[in-house]
Amino acid sequence: MTELSTRLHHIIDEALLDASEIEDWGRSADYIPPLAQVDPRQAAVSVCLPDGTMVNAGESRKAFSIQSISKVFSLALAMGRYGDLLWQIVGREPSGTHFASLAALEANEGRPRNPFENAGAIATTGALLKGYEPRETLSELVRFVRDMAGDESILIDAEVARLETESGFRNTAIANFLRHNGILTEDPDRVLGTYFHQCAIEMTTRQLARAGATLAQLPCANITLGADRIQRINALMLTCGLYNESGDFAFEVGLPAKSGVGGGLLISVPYQASIAIWTPGLNAKGNPMIAIYLAKRIADEMGWSIFAKP
Ligand code: GLU
Repeated sequence: MTELSTRLHHIIDEALLDASEIEDWGRSADYIPPLAQVDPRQAAVSVCLPDGTMVNAGESRKAFSIQSISKVFSLALAMGRYGDLLWQIVGREPSGTHFASLAALEANEGRPRNPFENAGAIATTGALLKGYEPRETLSELVRFVRDMAGDESILIDAEVARLETESGFRNTAIANFLRHNGILTEDPDRVLGTYFHQCAIEMTTRQLARAGATLAQLPCANITLGADRIQRINALMLTCGLYNESGDFAFEVGLPAKSGVGGGLLISVPYQASIAIWTPGLNAKGNPMIAIYLAKRIADEMGWSIFAKP
């Protein structure tokens, strides 16, 4: 083991130990049974270092629903396909509101503020679907994630996708509103079906941290995207990746990140590391509560804020 990975191991173990003393680990997402049944007092941390060394702790082999973290992957594909045309249908401003806010959408004349709130992600998936069948778009997306992670075993949990479809009334409202405003040109039900399936991709923190090597531009990355695209995705993660808690996360941790209601948190430390953390208990803003605590501990102790002196 290198000096860096030994130090990191130590920092993560201490942080996990301290976290175990914290009483409130938040609540698992409760809108569908497979997420509601997950014990919130679990944690996994995986860090991928530039040479491909992995530092893992906790339940790092347990697959969880990546949910909104999938929005980073769909955004990366849509930016590749559409370039700057994508910004005609979705903005790049933090919303400051709940991730599925209809009021925010209406206040912005029906145009989603950014690709990570639900409206923006649904619009992005709609753009990917243009000219394709849902199964083609989904297999392109899963292919992309598998290539990034270098792991063929990554799958979609069809049951989670089905239950999301059954209970996704709010997202249905968003998709219909987007269709009404011409942001979506595809059939809203087909777009939603694709969106719910992408949210239901299951990954472990090991797989996610490995996939994130592309976003952190680590030499060990399995695939590379243009620097321009990567910089912009990271900028959006920093400003919009944790919904209306993005400002707090940038203030406290200082790193681009994307959360999901399955409890995952993917963090880029540009050129230095890719971090994936999973703690299924969520805070009031729908972000993984203890994962944020662990991210702060790791970033502080490693001096990894993007604003810190290298
Ligand atoms: N499937 C969830 C939804 O659309 C994703 C939200 C999230 O992970 O934040 O509501």
